[in-house]
Amino acid sequence: MRSFEYVRATEVADAVRLVSAHPGGAYLAGGTTQVDLMKDGVLGPDLLVDITRLPLTGVERRDEVLRVGALTTMEELAADPTVIERLPLVREALLKGASAQLRNMATIGGNLLQRTRCRYFRDLDVPKCNKRLVESGCAAVEGAPRMHAVLGANERCIALHASDLAVPLVALDAVVCLLGAAGERQIPLTDFYFASSDSPDVENRLSHGELITAIEIPLLPVEAVSGYLKVRDRVSYEFALASAAVALVISGGVIRQARIGLGGVGSKPWRAWDAERELVGSPTATATFRRAAQVAVQGAWTLPGTAFKVELAQRCLVRELRTVSGVAA
Ligand SMILES: Cc1cc2nc3c(=O)[nH]c(=O)nc-3n(C[C@H](O)[C@H](O)[C@H](O)COP(=O)(O)OP(=O)(O)OC[C@H]3O[C@@H](n4cnc5c(N)ncnc54)[C@H](O)[C@@H]3O)c2cc1C
Ligand code: SF4
Repeated sequence: MRSFEYVRATEVADAVRLVSAHPGGAYLAGGTTQVDLMKDGVLGPDLLVDITRLPLTGVERRDEVLRVGALTTMEELAADPTVIERLPLVREALLKGASAQLRNMATIGGNLLQRTRCRYFRDLDVPKCNKRLVESGCAAVEGAPRMHAVLGANERCIALHASDLAVPLVALDAVVCLLGAAGERQIPLTDFYFASSDSPDVENRLSHGELITAIEIPLLPVEAVSGYLKVRDRVSYEFALASAAVALVISGGVIRQARIGLGGVGSKPWRAWDAERELVGSPTATATFRRAAQVAVQGAWTLPGTAFKVELAQRCLVRELRTVSGVAA
């Protein structure tokens, strides 16, 4: 491991100033991703600013919006009474991620900024990786792409966005609150990430030194039904092969509002806008759900090793739509 300077920040403004002024600086929250990548040599900051003592914890309800401090842990957010009552899909996504030990360390800000699990990205012996080394190629396309993306992917990079939490959050129109050297700003999570097909090496709109201070999540209407289905190789401690976050408002058997996020298939947390439009105004029926699911995966870019995900994602979405709406198989 390379040597680096470690500073524990006690003031938010100091933390931002330190990292912003230091091109090789980075933040350390729970460390569950950052330390792994440093051990592997993929990341080598020469200044690590520990933000765990900053007053950015806690969950606060402001009318119909939940403001979540960036340092709130996954486990704390999952246990919040408003999340349990009004955002069950967020709770399910959190509790289906990682393990209890990790969830007690891992923060919400860090979860949204976690890097891809692409094994070639994490292996410095692999010379071809456009995400690590611009224009070097993509080893995954020629290698074992099973755990990779089919939406927002192309021959330059098929890396998957691994966060479960981000999937319901994009569906819910959550907003990321940032503080940087230039001041505060807010970005809708749906605009925050870039697809790998656009820019493998630049993953989001964060400027160097900008700190996520909070996430704001609009609550679902009280009458909404919602859930998160995650399909994976093992029952726990495993990333998604495909996942679907779904929220519907139904009245008189007709879908009035629909929100859909897909995980395990996108190079960014995938908002299925067209599928939502397909649902709104239609009756709750398996045929409706199948049509929406077909629309949701349009434009998928597949390899022989990833083609199965197109069908899997559709089945996952149809099943969760049926579950939340109570439509029998
Ligand atoms: C074995 C294993 C299994 C996992 N399984 C899952 C899973 O199934 N689903 C899932 O969603 N996740 C999973 N994860 C990922 C885990 O959720 C993330 O590692 C964790 O949420 C990151 O949070 P952290 O606080 O530890 O971030 P850190 O590791 O401290 O930081 C991650 C990145 O975010 C930056 N950062 C952190 N906080 C801020 C901030 N407030 N502002 C700006 N930058 C910041 C850091 O500089 C770093 O680049 C798994 C991780 C492991 C190790
Ligand atoms: S999929 Fe992306 S991260 Fe993985 S090797 Fe290819 S370029 Fe690198």
